Amino acid sequence: MVRKKSTRSKVRTRKEAYKRKQQARSYASRSWRILLLTVRAVQKFSSFRHKNGIAMCASRRFDFRNQHKAYMKTEVLKRYYTDGSIRLKMIQHALNSYRSNNTLMKKNSRQLYNQRRRILKKYATFQSHKCTIKHSNLYTQNLKEFRKIIREGPDYVCLSCGLALFRNQVIPFVEEKEQKWICKSCSDKIKKRQMPSRAVVNKLKVCEIPSELKRLNNLEKHLIALRLPFMKIVNLTSGKLSSRLSQKGTKGPLHCVPSDVEDTVTTLPRP
Ligand SMILES: [Zn+2]
Repeated sequence: MVRKKSTRSKVRTRKEAYKRKQQARSYASRSWRILLLTVRAVQKFSSFRHKNGIAMCASRRFDFRNQHKAYMKTEVLKRYYTDGSIRLKMIQHALNSYRSNNTLMKKNSRQLYNQRRRILKKYATFQSHKCTIKHSNLYTQNLKEFRKIIREGPDYVCLSCGLALFRNQVIPFVEEKEQKWICKSCSDKIKKRQMPSRAVVNKLKVCEIPSELKRLNNLEKHLIALRLPFMKIVNLTSGKLSSRLSQKGTKGPLHCVPSDVEDTVTTLPRP
């Protein structure tokens, strides 16, 4: 069964629909109007700017401000001289402000503030200029120092220990009018009349390997070694370089264990 609608309700719904439609239309027209107005305003402003330039605009604003200032001044003066009550009020206000501003604390703070502003103003330009010069100087100086350092390699051989060192690690040692170099640690030890621990004469001379021992393989070398060194070897470089090619270094303590090779040598068959 279909429920029949009354004519009154039908009229009401049609009225509501009409209202909604009108509202939507008015909203659309309003938004269009706003858009048009803004576009027109932008066009006007751009044409004005194009015609007169920005300076003109600024000068106009400035003129307006000055005019307003002058107008306000004349108005206030007129009121001051004509109205007695306003005149009294203004005098009272001025006296009060003078009294409140002229205390010792306020005076001191104002003085400090002015002093700070003066100093800042004086050094602002100077400081920025100084900073740029300082930074550029620092950069060039550091670069110069770096270039100076890398110009020379470890070309200085110590007289005592025979190590190849850099210039900053050695001191000159004059012997029979010949310039030689000695490392700092060796020099210190010698000055104390002690034997430098890594000096060549401290049983550290590397002799030439006899021809019989030159052709030995790793196993044979291990069998007849008088000392067995134990140390931790690490790669000093990391990254893309393979560990086989990288520079190596020792880390931690190093132990040299003396081994008794007498038994090994006697048990081996004769070559
Ligand atoms: Zn040395």
